[in-house]
Amino acid sequence: MPISADQALEMLREGNRRFACGEARNRFTTDERARALEGQEPWAIVVGCSDSRVPVEAVFDVGSGDLFVVRSAGHVLSAAGLASVRFAAEKLGTRLVVILGHEDCGAVSAALAGDAPDWLEPIVGHIDVTRADPTRAPADADDALLAAAVDSHALDTVAELRTWFAAGGLSDPPRVVGAAYKLATGEVHWLT
Ligand SMILES: [Zn+2]
Repeated sequence: MPISADQALEMLREGNRRFACGEARNRFTTDERARALEGQEPWAIVVGCSDSRVPVEAVFDVGSGDLFVVRSAGHVLSAAGLASVRFAAEKLGTRLVVILGHEDCGAVSAALAGDAPDWLEPIVGHIDVTRADPTRAPADADDALLAAAVDSHALDTVAELRTWFAAGGLSDPPRVVGAAYKLATGEVHWLT
């Protein structure tokens, strides 16, 4: 019986709770490596940022074989990233996709600043910060502005993926939810 989206979400919540309060298990054991040879049945797909401070398996206190992870700066989905997500959904039967943004994201920050070099355009060009308009935030609220932009970008990516699934004709697409990770506390805040 495959793990449902509801079950997967609860397992991620529980794992993050253990991680945040310092009770994470050691999941990368020799036994687990042996089991990896039997194949993979990841129960959640995580689309996250490449930021070195957001180690996805650790954040959710899971081990090898649990998560199918797609990462890029600012969790921007390229054609290859989209195909990777669909591969896990269609071929591996994974029923939940989490879009994981995070506090102090450099990609979102660069999009907000609007002064990124041309070569960064494939990343910042996909990050819409218009709903985190600096003119509507207090002048001293840079952190709050960035946090709002991180949340809105994660939700935009959720919407983008849902639209892409619909356009691709998936009859039973996986559930897509957004989340944001707090660097200091280790907590994942669920957005949807
Ligand atoms: Zn980031």
